[in-house]
Amino acid sequence: MAKKVEDRPTESKSTVKSFKIEGKSMADKIKGKGVISGVAVGTILLAGQNLDGYLVNYQPGTKATEKKKAAAALVKVAENLKATIDDYTEKGLKEQAGILEAHRLLIEDPAISEKVDEEIEATGNAPKAVLNAYESNAQLFEQMEDEYFRGRAVDMRDVGKRIAKFLLGIKDPEIVGKVIVAGKEIEPSVIAGLPTDKIAGVILGAGSTTAHAVIIAKTRAIPTVVGVGEGIEQMANGDPAILDGETGEILIRPTDEERTAYNEKIKKQEELKAHYAQLKALPAKTQDGTEVELVANIGSPADADAAIKNFGATGVGLFRSEFVFMGKQDIPKEEDQFKEYKAAVEKCATVTHGEGLCVIRTMDIGGDKPLPYIQVGEEENPFLGYRAIRISLQRRDLFLPQLKAILRAGKFGKAAIMFPMVINVKEFLDAKEFVEEAKRELVQEGKEYADNVQVGIMVETPAAAVMAPILAKYVDFFSIGTNDLVQYTLAVDRGNAQISYLYNHFNPAVLRLIKRTIESANKEGKWAGMCGEMASDPNAAIILMAMGIKELSMSAPSIPKVKERIRNITMVEAKKILDKVMEMEDGDEIKKYLATIQN
Ligand code: PEP
Ligand code: MG
Repeated sequence: MAKKVEDRPTESKSTVKSFKIEGKSMADKIKGKGVISGVAVGTILLAGQNLDGYLVNYQPGTKATEKKKAAAALVKVAENLKATIDDYTEKGLKEQAGILEAHRLLIEDPAISEKVDEEIEATGNAPKAVLNAYESNAQLFEQMEDEYFRGRAVDMRDVGKRIAKFLLGIKDPEIVGKVIVAGKEIEPSVIAGLPTDKIAGVILGAGSTTAHAVIIAKTRAIPTVVGVGEGIEQMANGDPAILDGETGEILIRPTDEERTAYNEKIKKQEELKAHYAQLKALPAKTQDGTEVELVANIGSPADADAAIKNFGATGVGLFRSEFVFMGKQDIPKEEDQFKEYKAAVEKCATVTHGEGLCVIRTMDIGGDKPLPYIQVGEEENPFLGYRAIRISLQRRDLFLPQLKAILRAGKFGKAAIMFPMVINVKEFLDAKEFVEEAKRELVQEGKEYADNVQVGIMVETPAAAVMAPILAKYVDFFSIGTNDLVQYTLAVDRGNAQISYLYNHFNPAVLRLIKRTIESANKEGKWAGMCGEMASDPNAAIILMAMGIKELSMSAPSIPKVKERIRNITMVEAKKILDKVMEMEDGDEIKKYLATIQN
């Protein structure tokens, strides 16, 4: 929900690094894990308001009156939510609308009104009964093994509190200036309910990157730090604060000197932004004329829009379609998926330079991205388990509607279908057969679709990379997923902070697999791209180009820095660097060597 508008691996798992408070003469310094980069300056707005004081002063009526009040509140809050959902949908804020829709369903669930009535019988107090009812549901969710389900407990409490606040007549605080929303857990409605231009940053006590609050922050590119734990207790409403979404550093009540130091950083950030803005319309071409497509990794059509408009992406190299499946109660229908894919394909078709291709990856569920309505079951090793294409090939009820939606979207520009986690030719051919079946169904249903949709695979398993010369004969393209390829090749969990020193995309074993993959594609007249995090490393970009890569896909904010590096080098130089790199025996040595080369 996946992953900074930057991507994983850094975001794949929550890791509380460290937490310290330094001398009192300085600001309180808290360190968490930066997940969405950028510096934010604002005042703290604590999420998770305590209602105890209000509850003490609440004067309940008879049990019958309390039941009536509670029933009316459930209806009214659901109505209010519906109005906000409609407003968000109209404004194209789909993620927020989706989350609030899930909340509305939690209110309309008939079991909840029964539970509230039971609690009123016990407590005689409507707001308390509502809080208790949702709290007991939240606790049930919290006991679940699955991280995704555990994460939904916060939604339960959020809904309960929303209704209790209505019953207690509590209005939300007025927002003055920009705020940094902070909370051990942040109720999704807090972020979803605030205008984007009012939120400077987000601080989450929990380490979960699949929290809905983080998902929304990502789509809005709001600088975010997670995993600060008890650090939240050092903050009070209205405290001035500075947050660095890159380093994970947070300053509470900064001194003038600290502000000045950060102002410098912000000024540099602004200058760099202005400089990068000038590169937006320029091609990613080396000085001797070799060009590469710099495209974006996205989770929604709105991301595609921002990537093209703000960062000059020339298309989409990875639409993580599992985002379309998230925040929903059930499998999204073909028609709903079609609308999402069509919007992204149409956005890509507006590019004035480059291919304007929109590569849509079929859902990569499982591993670190579970879904409530797809039962994967308990697994010892979810990353090696029932996930991605393995699920799709067994679940035609999921796979066919998705393929049909993509094929139909292809009519509105240039689309490509990409299968995740493929390990052999058979999987690809089986999946391709599903594509043919999807086409046949579309013909029968009289629906229009594009017949020229390319079909390719992610190369993110060592098996696929080793078999690249064979696979290249069948596919239309490869896109190298280094986030997983590195973890599977080196047996290093991409989210484990303790062994992150081993997680290096310049490891010679990884480089050999990548080179083999690119060369195999080119030999068969196919194209190879990359959509793992490595693509956003400017030093990697130049050696990948020297290997013959045709497309680099990344979180959009990384595009300008990669483009700048490419525009300042010649292919002759890049090839020399590659030759040197391929002679080296150690990944750290390669990394250091590349960092010393300036152009
Ligand atoms: C990858 O593995 O490199 C990739 C892009 O896929 P994801 O990060 O979604 O697993
Ligand atoms: Mg992957």
